[in-house]
This record gives sequence, C-alpha cells and structure tokens, in this order.
Amino acid sequence: MLQQIAEGLTHLLFPRLCAGCNKPLLPEEDILCLNCNVYYLPRTAYHHLPENETILRFAGRFPFEKATSLAYFTGEGLLQHLLHELKYNDRKEIGTFLGLQLAYDLKQTGWANSIDAIIPVPLHPDKEKLRGYNQSIIIAEGMSDVLAVPTLPNALERIRNTESQTQKSREERIANVQEAFAVKDAEKIKGKHLLLIDDVLTTGATLESCALALLNAPGVRISIATVGIAV
Ligand SMILES: [Zn+2]
Repeated sequence: MLQQIAEGLTHLLFPRLCAGCNKPLLPEEDILCLNCNVYYLPRTAYHHLPENETILRFAGRFPFEKATSLAYFTGEGLLQHLLHELKYNDRKEIGTFLGLQLAYDLKQTGWANSIDAIIPVPLHPDKEKLRGYNQSIIIAEGMSDVLAVPTLPNALERIRNTESQTQKSREERIANVQEAFAVKDAEKIKGKHLLLIDDVLTTGATLESCALALLNAPGVRISIATVGIAV
C-alpha cells in the first residue's frame, strides 16, 4: 500500500514523458506513446522479405545468412532523435527499448531461431570510457532477453580508433575501418551463428569490417540486424 502511494506520488511529481512528443506516458506505455511508436517510428518489415535494402547493401561483400533493419532512419526523424538521446544524453533505457522492439519483430517470424549469440559492434575502449557505455551493447542486451540467446560483448574488440565517419564518402569510410576489429576469443564463437548488431546502417563499412574479423573464427556464420537504416 505504502509502495503504491509512493509510486503514485512519484508519477504525479515526475511523470514519465514520451521521448517523442513529451506528453505523459500511460502506465502501459514505455519510452514512446502509442501514437509516436506507430506513426513516427516507420518500420521496414524487412525481416518478412527475402530481399531487402539491408541485404542489398551487404550483397557480394562477405558471406552472410540474413540481414534486416527495424526502422527507417532519416535526418530529423524520431529514430534520429532517439539514437541521439541514447548516444549523447545517457538515455540507456532508449537502447533497451529499441533492442526489445527489434527482437519482438524478429521473434514473431522465427527470423532469429538459429542464432546462437549476439555480437554488438564494439566501440574503441577510449570512446567507451568517455561515453560510459557502448550503445550497441545496450541494444543487444535488450534483444538477448527476448530471443533468449546471450550477448557476447567481448568476443570482438576494436583495435584501432577510427576517425569520425560522418563527413566521409563511402570509399573513405571503408578505408577508415578496414582491419579495425579483431576476434578476442575464437573459442567462444567457433561454429556459431552470430547476430551482429549496430544502431544505424549507412554504408555498412563498420559492420563489414566486424563480419570479416568474425569470419576468421572457424565455422562462424553471420547475420546482421540494425535498429535503423539510413535512406
Ligand atoms: Zn509521443
């Protein structure tokens, strides 16, 4: 009883607000109100399609099983805002939320049934220390719960601190991240079907570099899922 009163008071004094429109959330809503979630987080439904834009971006670059993205990422869009809050404003709960959304979508269709473990794209240790966390690990851990597979945040490591990618051309981005990653513990991943996770897919240079490193371990198969796809 006391706890309920305390929760009621907390809700009155500090209402949980939608990360999209700032209106108070209903008790059954989390992070986004239903309206923002349905109308402003445009889902790709790519996991239903045997061919989709995420697959096309990686086609011919390295062997992979499946690839998908949850939602379209556009400048000034809601997803852009959410990922900015996650990366630069310490809103880790947004990462968990996005991981859950992605995993629920994949689970519905059995897309991830053969996945053995989730590998988040590593940040360089210096950058992770500065930010305090790696946003891809937060997303991956949200997915782990739903898909009931472990996240292996230390299987891969970033051995070179790459420069910011935002102002670079596709070719420059690819050159920038080549050989930036290495497998830390091949024993842990050998023979496994790994789901590589990142926040946004642009050229795919970072994910390609990760995949090429992981494929050095014996018997590894790769699938890819990102929260956003830049279009
Ligand atoms: Zn809203």
